[in-house]
Amino acid sequence: MKDISSMVTRIAVLGSTGSVGRQTLQVAEALPHRLRVVALAAGQNTRLLNEQIQQFHPVVVSVGHTGVRSMVQHPDVLVGDEGLVALATHPDVDLVVVATSGKAGLAPTLAALRAGKEVALANKEVLVMAGELVMAEARAHGKIIRPVDSEHSALWQCLQGEDPASIANLILTASGGPFREWDWQRLANATVADALKHPNWSMGQKITIDSATLMNKGFEVIEAHWLFGIPYEQIQVTIHPQSIIHSMVEFQDGSLKAQLGSPDMRLPIQYAILYPERVSGRATRLNWRQLKGLTFEEPDGHRFPCLLLAQQAGWHGATYPTVLSAADEVAVEAFLAGHINFLHIAETVDEVLTMHHPIGHPTIDDILAADAWARHTARMVIERRRDQHSLVFSAAVMPEMAFVRRKRQT
Ligand code: MG
Repeated sequence: MKDISSMVTRIAVLGSTGSVGRQTLQVAEALPHRLRVVALAAGQNTRLLNEQIQQFHPVVVSVGHTGVRSMVQHPDVLVGDEGLVALATHPDVDLVVVATSGKAGLAPTLAALRAGKEVALANKEVLVMAGELVMAEARAHGKIIRPVDSEHSALWQCLQGEDPASIANLILTASGGPFREWDWQRLANATVADALKHPNWSMGQKITIDSATLMNKGFEVIEAHWLFGIPYEQIQVTIHPQSIIHSMVEFQDGSLKAQLGSPDMRLPIQYAILYPERVSGRATRLNWRQLKGLTFEEPDGHRFPCLLLAQQAGWHGATYPTVLSAADEVAVEAFLAGHINFLHIAETVDEVLTMHHPIGHPTIDDILAADAWARHTARMVIERRRDQHSLVFSAAVMPEMAFVRRKRQT
């Protein structure tokens, strides 16, 4: 057996100035004898990117668009989607941390797998929009997708050494977000500032809003389905406000395994990069002696219809999850811009899903076409609402989700 502890892993960090990207660099900084950062890609935060270049001396970097290229202090600066793919397939790179957001992560993830790279995936839209395609590509190249998301890292850790046939249920935990105890009349008036107050995790804006609607947990159900090949009927969600148990696996014999830790992303990031090794790093250690209690509640699909929408989209499969992800991105942007209220996010996504004509076993072109259609349609739905001055949600009527009520045929 080769001595893995003496090997240096050369990593590319795509999305290096985002929340997961910055924490990935903290993990690398703590383990200089094990990790070398050879490629960095950012969007437009060139000030922070320049600081990262000074500290890590990557061989190649990339930025989001040509407008900011000249502000980057590096001799080899690539741009845009092509830049991401070039970094993901660079000969000096062993492992790619995909920490971009939205659909930007899809092409570099596929390219990295084809180039035989290890992939640590933090960008959940990649598996939501194209799970079938990405997992097929990984299998074709004898690779696994290493999950960075804390819940999937927990499931992955619990499943080490276990026969997949022995799994009874995967149980994803959710903090419940800032609106866990709000009734839906109050939710209609929730402000952007309210939604950005996440109780336990510090994350980017899009994912924080998705956590408040529980859409994030719905995306995670779809991710878990693809990562572990488990039917939707065997993937459950529970609200666990303390965010100490990051997820659990229930086995056929009734035994449950849970992974516990501080809510600190540096732990799942490090596990994904150094897998299967565990070494002392930068992550906060859990002081389990001080735990006061671990509680669980059923999620309320009436107050948080995005979870139901996502479960339904995953169950119907085809291009529905792609449409779910794209429509949600547009709706969250509109909410952040003050154009729609909090409950309109779910209504918009529901309307777009209901109008969609799905394509089964989609190719990459089918996926990109469904994504573009969903974004366009979501913008139209939002514009129409604004024209009709129906911005203030009627607190007297609970929103009806047509897509959630759609029959499941087996
Ligand atoms: Mg998560």
